Amino acid sequence: MQVTLIGTGSPIPTLERAGTSLVVETDTEMFLIDCGPNTVHRLMENEIDYGRIEDLFITHHHLDHNAAFYNFVFTSWAQGGRESLTVYGPDNTDTLVESMYDIYAEDLDYRTDIYPSAGITDIDTVRIDDGFSTTIDGHTITALSVDHSIETYALKVTDDETGETFVFSSDTRKLPALVDFARDADVLVQDACIGPYSEDAVPDDGFVWDQYRADSPYRSNAVEENHCSAADAADIASSAGVETLVLTHFLPYRDTDEMRRRATESFDGSVVIAEDGLELDV
Ligand SMILES: [Zn+2]
Ligand SMILES: [Zn+2]
Repeated sequence: MQVTLIGTGSPIPTLERAGTSLVVETDTEMFLIDCGPNTVHRLMENEIDYGRIEDLFITHHHLDHNAAFYNFVFTSWAQGGRESLTVYGPDNTDTLVESMYDIYAEDLDYRTDIYPSAGITDIDTVRIDDGFSTTIDGHTITALSVDHSIETYALKVTDDETGETFVFSSDTRKLPALVDFARDADVLVQDACIGPYSEDAVPDDGFVWDQYRADSPYRSNAVEENHCSAADAADIASSAGVETLVLTHFLPYRDTDEMRRRATESFDGSVVIAEDGLELDV
């Protein structure tokens, strides 16, 4: 399978990183994990035919993971020609879809005169819970409840034929259960939100958030209770025997060289700093 990192940022908007989103591509299918801000535009930048995406997994309902939901649903259907959609997610996923039918009722009346209604008026929702499992094109997708500020799931995708395994931690503090979940994974894309600041990472032009020009971001306790550092990520990857560790979920202006150095202190495998558009062969 191939995994493309669509967005690798955090709730703080930057021009360099979109909100969290990943595309998983098997031989015949393509599905989306999370749908953070700017997802649709990044899918276009990566020349991904997102009208083909008929399954969307939302790991949790934080805005940096779902804010482009309505944009994705409308454009993948109207412009992309998508004919069906199943949305998997935690509690309130059905509310997200039903709210769309409320808020955009007149908009949908208008658009379904122009485009076929299949794929927009018949969206399915599936509740994810701990141990949830489903299969898409010979790949098993399973969920693990992780420890974040709200109900959140890590996801694992396993090729049933080859055993190749990809794990996405979503947002979580360091959690022993994640080690078992990611055991022997080929690729682990792991929350490493807690990281040092670097003045070199501040762009020369473009908008700058002054309050993030520091090691400790604004209200850092909330961050530290709900996310991992690069060292935490490396401990998880090392204990799990992961082959490639990808650090993601970056606040603005982090020192990614130092984060890589800290990760390699306890992890012998390959360490990758996530970037929007990065393609990973699993
Ligand atoms: Zn979150
Ligand atoms: Zn997040």
